[in-house]
Amino acid sequence: MKSSRPLTRKSITPEQFRNFIFAGRSVFTLENNETGNYLTFKVKQIKKNYKPVPGKFAIECKTLGDNDHGYKFLGFLDTNERKFKRRYWDTNFIGFKTWVWLLKNLSRLEDFTKLSIYHEGRCCKCGMPLTVPESIDTGIGPECNKRMYANSIQILKDLGTWNDSLTYPENARLGLEADPSIWGQIIIPDGFNKEDEYKAHRLLKAFDIF
Ligand SMILES: [Zn+2]
Repeated sequence: MKSSRPLTRKSITPEQFRNFIFAGRSVFTLENNETGNYLTFKVKQIKKNYKPVPGKFAIECKTLGDNDHGYKFLGFLDTNERKFKRRYWDTNFIGFKTWVWLLKNLSRLEDFTKLSIYHEGRCCKCGMPLTVPESIDTGIGPECNKRMYANSIQILKDLGTWNDSLTYPENARLGLEADPSIWGQIIIPDGFNKEDEYKAHRLLKAFDIF
């Protein structure tokens, strides 16, 4: 059943993972590093008239070594409404169960020591292959990274908490304290301690799965 992993796969931290899961075109693999079982997911932003629809994603899953059937469509996620609309009939399907588990535990993946997360060597925003070592570490290409930072800064400025004399991480913290709902819209810097992340992710915990 098991197929060999592509060499481009790179293990990433839960922090990095949360920054790219909703970037637009993320493909990632969750592995149980005790059993070696793994599942690959696609979280693709929905487009209307070629324009990405904010907060709306189509979710697909591929089970281990299941090359014959490819990806199965699981349903639609709305991160603004915090709703998942199931489109896959079999709720016992391991891909579906894992997806629900992932949504419920997104803010505390650090606690699952058997879990490894990999991206597929492509930018999770635009889908282009990653070549720069730093990008391979984070899962986002340099151009998309620049754009995501510029976008994050704009969101923080619109919120009214931006302070030019502070660093980006300090500003991000201020912004998240003022409005935790901007999580998922701005880049969360490395080094935020878990408590802060919990606060920022508390809205995601409220995902209404069924
Ligand atoms: Zn990109």
